[in-house]
Amino acid sequence: MKKKYRCFALFSGGLDSMLSVLYMSKLGYKVLPIFFKSLFFGPESALKAAEQIGFELIVHDISEKHLEMLKNPRYGFGKNMNPCIDCHGLMFKEAASLMKKYNIDFIISGEVVGQRPMSQRRDALNAVGKLSDNKDLLIRPLSQKLLTDTIPVREGWVNKEDMLDIQGRGRHRQIEMAREFGITYYQNPGGGCLLTDVGYSRRLRDLMYHDMLNISFIEFLKLGRHFRINDNLKIIVGRNEKDNDALTNLAVNEIVLQAKDFPGPIAVLNSMIQPAEEEIKIAASLLLRYCNKAPETSNVIYGTKFQLHQTVEVKKMSPAKVEEFLI
Ligand code: SF4
Repeated sequence: MKKKYRCFALFSGGLDSMLSVLYMSKLGYKVLPIFFKSLFFGPESALKAAEQIGFELIVHDISEKHLEMLKNPRYGFGKNMNPCIDCHGLMFKEAASLMKKYNIDFIISGEVVGQRPMSQRRDALNAVGKLSDNKDLLIRPLSQKLLTDTIPVREGWVNKEDMLDIQGRGRHRQIEMAREFGITYYQNPGGGCLLTDVGYSRRLRDLMYHDMLNISFIEFLKLGRHFRINDNLKIIVGRNEKDNDALTNLAVNEIVLQAKDFPGPIAVLNSMIQPAEEEIKIAASLLLRYCNKAPETSNVIYGTKFQLHQTVEVKKMSPAKVEEFLI
């Protein structure tokens, strides 16, 4: 009996990854979609996409390794803080390290030659393979006919004639395939990765520049308005109730501030060292600017989230000054 080869499919939840899974599965391979989550992208929409095509998704956490890579990506960043070539390379490498555990023969992905400006040029696909240390195990079913043969083709596990020759930015062939496979909903490529967001990237760059790139500070980047008071100190001000709750939940040892007698947002300090009283006053004055009902001079309470036991009296910061601190 012919062996049923098993492959991992790097699965983003985008249309191309769904198609590569279904296409290889239709050819008779046992396909195991795998998603790598990090601090910047979660598995929610990939889980939905996998469910839609009737596959169980393996979710594997690469947060720490991804953060290390982000500090110095060999192939640099895309339009924002997205190091897509290195990111794909890391995912392939991780997938390769899990092959034995899942009894896998090779790895596939939905990458298409020339589709995306940064990560899917032909030289970029080669770079991804090189970074993964396992480029000879990779198959891109949607474009493999146009690519150099790898072990699965050379060994006859994959028939090159069965592979496709899709290239370029046009999507009509993929849309046609989606129709044939009965896929009714799919997300945009790259959607859901915070590193492709302009505002988020600006805040992340600021953290990096100030040597504050740790997991805890990164978690705060998703919430509120961010201001840099000085090289060591940031203040994050909630924009709405949801932000305020999330900021409070996330704060552990951080200093939390709130106007004393008036409704208004919560603020959290992110600091590399214990902030001085003068610095706390600046932060309190900034926060007060967002408390519409508070008079020009008011009390702000602060402390840890369980005990806002200290008080400072400050004047509202001028809007121009607030703007200066905005990241
Ligand atoms: S968009 Fe984000 S998740 Fe996708 S390859 Fe680029 S950095 Fe990685």
